[in-house]
Amino acid sequence: MSITPTSTAQGEMRILDVVREVWGFDSLRPLQDQAIQAALGGRDSLVVMPTGGGKSLCYQVPPLVADRLDVVVSPLISLMKDQVDGLQSAGYPAEAFHSGLAPQQRDEAFARLRKGECRLLLLSPERLFSPSFLGFLKKQNVVAFAIDEAHCISHWGHDFRPEYRRLSELRTYFPNASFHAYTATANERVREDIVKQLDLRDPKILVGGFDRPNLTYRVIPRVDMHDQVIAIIRRHEGEAVIVYCMTRSDTERMAGALKRGNLKAETYHAGMSPDARRKVQEAFANESANVIAATVAFGMGIDRSNVRCVIHATMPKSIEHYQQETGRAGRDGLEAECVLLYSGGDFPRWESLLSRSALEANRSEEVLAHQITLLDEMRRFASVPQCRHKAISEYFGQPYSIANCEACDVCFGEIAGSEDGTIIAQKILSCVARMKGAYGVNYLCSVLKGADTEIIRHRGHHELSTYGLLDGLDEKQLRNYVFQLVDQGMLDRTSGSRPVLE
Ligand code: ADP
Repeated sequence: MSITPTSTAQGEMRILDVVREVWGFDSLRPLQDQAIQAALGGRDSLVVMPTGGGKSLCYQVPPLVADRLDVVVSPLISLMKDQVDGLQSAGYPAEAFHSGLAPQQRDEAFARLRKGECRLLLLSPERLFSPSFLGFLKKQNVVAFAIDEAHCISHWGHDFRPEYRRLSELRTYFPNASFHAYTATANERVREDIVKQLDLRDPKILVGGFDRPNLTYRVIPRVDMHDQVIAIIRRHEGEAVIVYCMTRSDTERMAGALKRGNLKAETYHAGMSPDARRKVQEAFANESANVIAATVAFGMGIDRSNVRCVIHATMPKSIEHYQQETGRAGRDGLEAECVLLYSGGDFPRWESLLSRSALEANRSEEVLAHQITLLDEMRRFASVPQCRHKAISEYFGQPYSIANCEACDVCFGEIAGSEDGTIIAQKILSCVARMKGAYGVNYLCSVLKGADTEIIRHRGHHELSTYGLLDGLDEKQLRNYVFQLVDQGMLDRTSGSRPVLE
């Protein structure tokens, strides 16, 4: 099919005609309509729409309707490539310039651009700011820029990219153009920062609903990570499952454990070669691979709408990450499950990873402190038994008034019986109090389990009334309970290299 942009009529009928002709959709979603109108009317905008909400249509439609060339800034080559391939095969004249293009492909794309045939041009920020490209775009009289994944411009976002900061210069080069920012995750502070950084003028702010009623959320104490993940995947035999892990080596260990459990699994992380990563993405997209153990690197650009389960083997580092990663489940609108395996040990592990990488990347203390705040919000989400749908919606600034979501562990009443919990908590707290000294989690657990060790005898702790009081609990379970008390503020765990409980 080919598109002939006939007129610049900007009426709704024209928009719908184009949407029907190119995409085959019968209607627009409410926010799409407003976002498209803003871009056609030359009014700056900030559009926050969850993953799967349909952001791309908002910047793909206006240039076709207005018969002009719009520029989209995008952070990832794979995203650009997939999008342009899809558009071109639907007859939509789009081009992308990125380092993955062969010289001949680049020359051909340039020729089409020069002839004025192209309507949408996708670029990375680095490419955009090469002097020859800026000059070229000025000659093309570009009147609208869409900034995809706009949260990358903000230090307060969860995925800051220094190369995005230069986008603020665009206003100077294109004083008469309108700017349109798109993102899936931005709380109030990040939204304000995007507006400031991009110097958006009287922008139309459009924020979509964050709740995904078709997703069931569960947060389960992590006792035996690999066994638990295997059990969850078995509930989804033959279906697409993503298992998010904290580090690259965690993904390798996870895939190994799944294979030993007779489950076929691939890994995906940024340390793999581009070729190996592409193969895994393609296998997942064409459904020849179903289970992927991945780091956060597996994300943008995943083109599979029937992911039935997203497992977090450890806590992600922010609610923004959690919402975006779980958002990859159930994009077809059908039911899907999201399980977070949580242990109180996740927070200190992330804390030390973030501190180390801040040091390596020379990040300011302020940025690190902000990352820790996001981490703490995530810990609170995982450890406080509140309706998960409500917690996510409210975190993103949207009220949630449904009393029982019927789609989370808390509303299902699955959270472990509180009576038991209270007694266990009392025993742990009483033991800490009786030891009257500064001891770490491992030592506390060994006393509670009644371990027969030299050091316990030497300190006289085998004579405490709490010695062996929780010997029926599994070591990992016990550690997890202790960390829950830390999370809930009942116990203090000092910082430093030898943290102790108080
Ligand atoms: P996002 O970029 O916000 O994650 P996409 O633009 O990839 O979302 O759209 C998600 C899915 O919704 C795609 O499969 C897309 O084809 C579909 N979609 C978008 N707009 C509409 C619409 N108006 N009607 C029906 N389906 C739509």
